[in-house]
Amino acid sequence: MNDDEIKSKLRVLYKSCRICPKPCGVDRSALCGACGIDAKPRIYQNFVHLGEECSIVPALVINMCGCNLSCPTCPERHRWSDCLPIEDATSYAQAIARFIEKHGNIQSIEWIGGEPSLQVGFAIETSWKLREILGTVPTIYLNSNMYFSTDLLHILCSDEAPSIDAFVYDLKCTAPCSRTITGAKDYYEIVTHNIEVATHLRPHAPHILRHLVMPGHLDCCTNPILSWCKEHIPNVCINLMTTFHDFRPNGDGPLFLSDAEKHKAIDMIQTSGIATYFIDGQSV
Ligand code: SF4
Ligand code: SF4
Repeated sequence: MNDDEIKSKLRVLYKSCRICPKPCGVDRSALCGACGIDAKPRIYQNFVHLGEECSIVPALVINMCGCNLSCPTCPERHRWSDCLPIEDATSYAQAIARFIEKHGNIQSIEWIGGEPSLQVGFAIETSWKLREILGTVPTIYLNSNMYFSTDLLHILCSDEAPSIDAFVYDLKCTAPCSRTITGAKDYYEIVTHNIEVATHLRPHAPHILRHLVMPGHLDCCTNPILSWCKEHIPNVCINLMTTFHDFRPNGDGPLFLSDAEKHKAIDMIQTSGIATYFIDGQSV
């Protein structure tokens, strides 16, 4: 697919929105669906992140507003309510390019949210323009919750026009816990399908799967997820994250992962047979 074909396919998806599995069907040029995002790109911050996986830092992180999941422990949701729209991809790409040239040592660019697939047209167009301006750009990652439609999956994973070089994605929980942890009861089914297909469609692209260990969810989520990863995506690097923090002022669960659960989760990945993994972003 060339650039024009990608644009035209995205226009069709936005027209009666089929970006994600939710049944909104709204025309995103005029309306917002359940995610609360219309056609205007909105970004609530960008910054150089040194705390991502050791293979991708320093990373220029671009946080896009809005999400199509509703995780009760989301630490970001309050940050995107009053963002102003970005004028256009060209001027945004020029500003990012100036920053990259000035910084001199950016290893990767991460389109992240919220959920970047909701505004993926802007992310792709800005990525194209960055390549035009700079020639050689840092590796461009889509850092996604992977809760999107099969139509979008095939656009993002098109090998003929890879506007996205690499992928970071989350696998948060298994099917029985999907509604509680993400607000979407079909979360596990959709996301595992998309992750597996993405690794087949883009086998040579870097892929990193993050699993944030949740208190009380080691046996029902962490262990089965590690088994699924070993069986279905054996070549993907897994980042086991033990840094859960519930920032809600009136949360109803544990604030942190206990030391006992942290050690148990690390033992699970060490004995899982998974070939390549990080613990909290660091090689072991
Ligand atoms: S991306 Fe937003 S508007 Fe489109 S289907 Fe999903 S929730 Fe609805
Ligand atoms: S997927 Fe991430 S951004 Fe979206 S609601 Fe869940 S924690 Fe928040």
